[in-house]
Amino acid sequence: MDNNFDVIVVGSGPGGYVCAIRSAQLGLKTACVESRKTLGGTCLNVGCIPSKSLLHSSKMYHKAQKELNNLGVETGNIKLNLSKMMSNKNKSVLTLTKGIEFLFKKNKITHLKGKGSILAKDTVTVTDDYGKKINYETKNIVIGTGSVPTSLPGIKIDEKIIVSSTEALSFKKVPKELIVIGGGYIGLELSSVWKRLGSNVTVIEFFDHIIPEMDKDISTEFLKILNKQGINFKLDSKVTDVRVVKDKAVVYFTNNKSAIKEKIECDKVLVAVGRKANISADISKLGIKLDNQKKIQINNKFETSIKNIYAIGDVVDKGPMLAHKAEDEGIAVAEIIAGQAGHVNYGAIPAVIYTNPEVAMVGKTEEQVKKENIKYKVGKFPFMANSRAKVNNETEGFVKIIANERSDKVLGVSIISAVAGTMIAELALAMEFGASAEDLARTCHAHPTHCEAVKEAAMAVDKRPIHF
Ligand SMILES: Cc1cc2nc3c(=O)[nH]c(=O)nc-3n(C[C@H](O)[C@H](O)[C@H](O)COP(=O)(O)OP(=O)(O)OC[C@H]3O[C@@H](n4cnc5c(N)ncnc54)[C@H](O)[C@@H]3O)c2cc1C
Repeated sequence: MDNNFDVIVVGSGPGGYVCAIRSAQLGLKTACVESRKTLGGTCLNVGCIPSKSLLHSSKMYHKAQKELNNLGVETGNIKLNLSKMMSNKNKSVLTLTKGIEFLFKKNKITHLKGKGSILAKDTVTVTDDYGKKINYETKNIVIGTGSVPTSLPGIKIDEKIIVSSTEALSFKKVPKELIVIGGGYIGLELSSVWKRLGSNVTVIEFFDHIIPEMDKDISTEFLKILNKQGINFKLDSKVTDVRVVKDKAVVYFTNNKSAIKEKIECDKVLVAVGRKANISADISKLGIKLDNQKKIQINNKFETSIKNIYAIGDVVDKGPMLAHKAEDEGIAVAEIIAGQAGHVNYGAIPAVIYTNPEVAMVGKTEEQVKKENIKYKVGKFPFMANSRAKVNNETEGFVKIIANERSDKVLGVSIISAVAGTMIAELALAMEFGASAEDLARTCHAHPTHCEAVKEAAMAVDKRPIHF
């Protein structure tokens, strides 16, 4: 094999594999190094895809148990077959990771199997499972090494009783008592899965509200809904210790305000307190500049502090740690390397929590616009008044649009709805095109759809909703 490339991408997550495909499309001779057995990174193997599979299956189980009867669909004795549910998840993961192998072949991308380390700005060493090393020369390197789960000081994830999201996607049996440390999107999605499958779930969150990065209105409503679903919350609480005793754990925590100490015994503890950039020794040794959170610093062309070495995805200091952000950066950096004008608009990246109902947002929250002293208007519309949501028994939640008081330009949108994750695409597009609330209000929306709530919320910005 010829060992010279135009681009070597290190890591095949949604950032890396998409970058490799776009680079090859643009005529660049491309290789992608991956140390995992299968392509697709965290997202396909232990992130977005397996979690969405379990969210979907557990939702179906829950609906069959609790909701179908009300619709006149009489079912017999509903039983959970967890190992079949897990096999179905594994099958989906395998199909999708194989799909990337196929795309690599189709685009003539060289798949280098092993751990990549950057020896110099034009050399990547790949070490395979047997320790054999091969050097590859390249004009450009793109780092897409992603992220890994973090824990709290003094709490060691053993992946048996104290687990990360990776193990919580593969439990062999439903834990009777599950403690989730962290009320962010990963913690809440997995809380939903295991609650629906029969666990008693308690979420312990340091802040006095869940999903701290989202709009406060949304977070308050979401908490109410999850409480109603039977998930317990201990907010404003700091976990101080987790002790494993035989096959159980005891979680110790203290309320930040009252200083009251509590403990809960459980079968599993899921630590979902965030993820950190995956910075390997070679990156540190080369002297690539990191920010104070130990993420790679990049400029607006995705260049690191070393020429011809670029970085994208979870490992960089820009944007949220999300798969679609990584993908867009992967495309943009490939285009820049090929001499085109790649760009990512960090102001219009949607974020979705795939619980039921789903939660989604794009742009700024009300708290952010307040902090930035922007004068704004708000339009809200509840799904209680949306006909499609009503016939589907999906009336929880609302659409909230924030627009600039003077220009009417949409600054941010937050949604709680059964289909918020699908609905948010319209709003991301609107923001990309610099739409005003009036543009949304005057766009014809099909009836009856949940999306009509967007039009109504946009009309509510001007205090003229029709159905509320
Ligand atoms: C449980 C869970 C659920 C999630 N759900 C969602 C979701 O619904 N939507 C969403 O947008 N995001 C979701 N995410 C986040 C998403 O998975 C990440 O943002 C995304 O995978 C980041 O992509 P990336 O390309 O930067 O890195 P990664 O996907 O982390 O991929 C990096 C790859 O690089 C490889 N690698 C690292 N170092 C080397 C090396 N030296 N040599 C060779 N290979 C190397 C790793 O093995 C890995 O395969 C979820 C994450 C988790 C954990």
